[in-house]
Amino acid sequence: MAPTLYKFKVKISKIDGKGLFACSPIAARKKIGELSGKIITVAAARRMTKKMKRIAIVELDDKHALSAVDTETPFKYINHSCRPNTYMRVIQKRVEFYALREIFPPEELTCNYGETHHDGQLKCNCKSPFCKGYL
Ligand SMILES: [Zn+2]
Repeated sequence: MAPTLYKFKVKISKIDGKGLFACSPIAARKKIGELSGKIITVAAARRMTKKMKRIAIVELDDKHALSAVDTETPFKYINHSCRPNTYMRVIQKRVEFYALREIFPPEELTCNYGETHHDGQLKCNCKSPFCKGYL
């Protein structure tokens, strides 16, 4: 895994389960890090996500997905928020996270998951005034 300039802590989140929290300030638009995992097929990814409430799989294209299910990467703990402070960029077979704005510790890192396998059925708990309610 590529070294990261920033320090993080994984701890219990008010949003869902465990979350990833900043321990050092992060400037706007900076790359925060990359989700590490293994490449699996989209078909395998969809089979796995059916059985899981919390997912750590990102679909990369029509055929491939990146699974961090069995990988200890801090970035799989980034929770969804309707008003996130990071965004996810898929570049070829990589999933990178960038700061949307300046982030100050001890803020939790959040990301808008966009379309998920929950198909708008999972209640969102992001507590943002801009919350859409479901993801
Ligand atoms: Zn929300």
